[in-house]
Amino acid sequence: MSEATTTETEGPRHKTRAGNYFISNYPPFSFWSDDEANEVLKAYDSAPVPGTKLGLYHHIPFCRKRCHFCYFRVYTDKNAEDIKEYLDCTLRELEMLARKPLVQGRKPHFVYFGGGTPSYLSAKQLKELTDRMKAILPWDEAEEVAFECEPGTLNPGKLSAIKEIGVTRVSLGIENFDDHILEINGRAHRSKEVWRAYERARAEEFDQINIDLIAGMLEETEENWQRNIEETLKLEPDSVTIYQMEIPYNTGIYKDMKASGALVAPVADWETKRRWVKEAFAALESAGYTISSGYTAVKNPERTKFIYRDALWSGADLLGVGVASFSHVAGVHYQNMTEIDDYTKAIEAGEMPIKRALRTTEEERMIREFILQMKLGRAEAGYFQEKFGVNVLEKFAEPLKHLHDEGWLEVKDGVICLNRDGLLCVDNLLHDFFLPQHHTDKIV
Ligand code: SF4
Repeated sequence: MSEATTTETEGPRHKTRAGNYFISNYPPFSFWSDDEANEVLKAYDSAPVPGTKLGLYHHIPFCRKRCHFCYFRVYTDKNAEDIKEYLDCTLRELEMLARKPLVQGRKPHFVYFGGGTPSYLSAKQLKELTDRMKAILPWDEAEEVAFECEPGTLNPGKLSAIKEIGVTRVSLGIENFDDHILEINGRAHRSKEVWRAYERARAEEFDQINIDLIAGMLEETEENWQRNIEETLKLEPDSVTIYQMEIPYNTGIYKDMKASGALVAPVADWETKRRWVKEAFAALESAGYTISSGYTAVKNPERTKFIYRDALWSGADLLGVGVASFSHVAGVHYQNMTEIDDYTKAIEAGEMPIKRALRTTEEERMIREFILQMKLGRAEAGYFQEKFGVNVLEKFAEPLKHLHDEGWLEVKDGVICLNRDGLLCVDNLLHDFFLPQHHTDKIV
């Protein structure tokens, strides 16, 4: 978890080496520490800042099979009893959090089930889990309830149960439409299950169906990528999320690289992956979609929102329950224990299962929101002036000029706008806005 990323030192054309490319938070995780766990308790004892939205994340760490590119904490060997014990612990954790002064009297604005594979749970487990969650922290005012699904787990009863518990957006982890590529990358599902799952999800009339793709999986080809774009357009999902394949250190692919002494991952280089996403975005735009971030296209931006993303990227409090989950409360970042046994033991002892934490400064929170909003392709100076009293055009004059001169962005009427090429390598550009002490090659 602390090995170096190659992101900063590599230009946009470079080969894919091991390391994390995607920036999901700030300051980087390598600055979070177990010494600061006490800050989490203080944060929960404080009163909420008026107007701060609250979100709930529930982590289901179980999968049918571990994908070769997966870097999450997942378990593929747990039986129904283990799963029940785990879910009970997450409910006890939620009860603990719901009693805290920071949370009492608030209701979640959004709920997110992530993993792992939330759809790995049976319909019965899901119903019991969510009935009990709602009794602890009612989410009847949530504008969005999002749920990640692995297509091969979606039998008809499962999707009806997901709909019944109040899910508004299902996200189908399709990743690729080709059976050979799915197999060689260690995915549990095949294309036949994708079509079936998609049809069933449509029949359930979810508010939003999102599909996830990955550009540059093992053995991806030009021809196959074009086919992925065509199949995506045929499905007409409400939104499409496309990630560029990265190879973090704790993946099966990296272990194979290490064993063979390879420095370069056996996947397309960054330039090719960016071109593939660019081509997919262009095709989606031609079909009427709007590009709403460096990773997402939406069919109808008026109707299709990403409440979770937008709330989190503008400073919402997030209660993360479950093993290895991430939270952000009253200006304190923290992550839960990353091994299921440690997590359950802590909960059974009535303790908060905190692994590492960081109390952020006001300046760090401002930078965090700025870099996360840049991932949308635009950041408005007025927002930062109003919320933080900071003129970001002055504060970041130097990096903005540098990125402008390199041809990635424009600043007009107080709005910083990345062009398409800038948007597609936004995670590389964001390091320019980090504080000097966070300019390190350790981000995980
Ligand atoms: S389905 Fe997702 S979480 Fe599960 S092993 Fe594959 S990539 Fe990891």
